[in-house]
Amino acid sequence: MKFNTKTIHGKQQHDPSTGAVMPPIYQTSTYAQTSPGEHKGYEYSRTGNPTRTALENAFASIENGNYGLAFGSGLAAIDCVLKLLKPGDEVISTNDLYGGTYRIFTQIFEQYGIKFHFIGMKNAATIEAYVTKNTKIIWVETPTNPMLNIIDIKAVARVSKKHSILLAVDNTFATPYLQNPLDMGADIVMHSATKYLGGHSDVVMGALIVNDKELATKLYFIQNSCGAICGPMDSFLVLRGIKTLHVRMQRHCENGKIIAIYLAQHPKVENVFWPGFESHPNHKIAKEQMRDYGGMLSFSTKGNRMKDAFTVVENLNIFTLAESLGGVESLAGHPASMTHAAIPREEREKIGVVDSLIRLSVGIEDQEDLIADLEQALALI
Ligand SMILES: *Cc1c(COP(=O)(O)O)cnc(C)c1O
Repeated sequence: MKFNTKTIHGKQQHDPSTGAVMPPIYQTSTYAQTSPGEHKGYEYSRTGNPTRTALENAFASIENGNYGLAFGSGLAAIDCVLKLLKPGDEVISTNDLYGGTYRIFTQIFEQYGIKFHFIGMKNAATIEAYVTKNTKIIWVETPTNPMLNIIDIKAVARVSKKHSILLAVDNTFATPYLQNPLDMGADIVMHSATKYLGGHSDVVMGALIVNDKELATKLYFIQNSCGAICGPMDSFLVLRGIKTLHVRMQRHCENGKIIAIYLAQHPKVENVFWPGFESHPNHKIAKEQMRDYGGMLSFSTKGNRMKDAFTVVENLNIFTLAESLGGVESLAGHPASMTHAAIPREEREKIGVVDSLIRLSVGIEDQEDLIADLEQALALI
């Protein structure tokens, strides 16, 4: 089955009792048993719920994995992965990282004795110097947020395999429409399904997808033991979202490209960060490992003034100033004061999150309207 078909039919079945084409929202916490321990596969909805099962199967299908797990948020999914670790274990992570991921690593898991190394991974060879006998996970985000750096997943997987370390890839920005990390040697794919998989800015959810049975068993055990699951209604919404992922992504990519090109020639714009430009430092890798370049981009304005960035984001009319990304509507954000405010200024500037940086999640509206909106807002600075 090819990708577009998988988003709609992958590992799905019509409801066995009624033939309903979409799985019902099984709004139940428990399931009748005929004799103690004798049931139809479901006992209690923290452990399993049929609507969530349908979604978890869809997650697995679109990422070319064997097992999918759904959580109450992307961070709950990350939390589950980190609970594979014990005190003394070490994680090597991308330094240009989603702010909330940085926060859970440093402010929650460091206090349990897990050690994190945050490093630039534009060149995968740099990772090796940080590997110790305690390294258990390499955590990669690509494209990165918000600088749109590209990390060579296959090259990182060679390092992780050589040292028997798990490679986890946060695939939120790219989505399985653009890249499938499991096919490139990753062990765990993580998603904030809040973003493109849900796609309509109406639900918060996380996902993990793996191939290895033993790893899946451990993760299911943590999911059930810690209980950070999502409800049946949210499962239904994300399942519905996934069915249009491919058509939405196609338009996100088309609009992202047009806007990146428009901004790059704008006299008030300093830099545009978008992996589709040949001048992008890892454009070659992006071209190899991604099928297109996505709808996320960032740009800075000339003079690097915070007040100019504020003027732009406050005066956009079609782009909404908001956290989050990946919905059908275009959003603009100011990473230094919003998504990345949890990262100390010094760390933030080292990775390029300067005061004038604006991040766009380009939606699927008409290109002309989006460009006219940017034009009028940039004219005010
Ligand atoms: C939003 C996001 C997360 C966190 O997911 P939530 O659903 O908000 O908990 C993690 N990684 C990336 C890249 C994100 O954009």
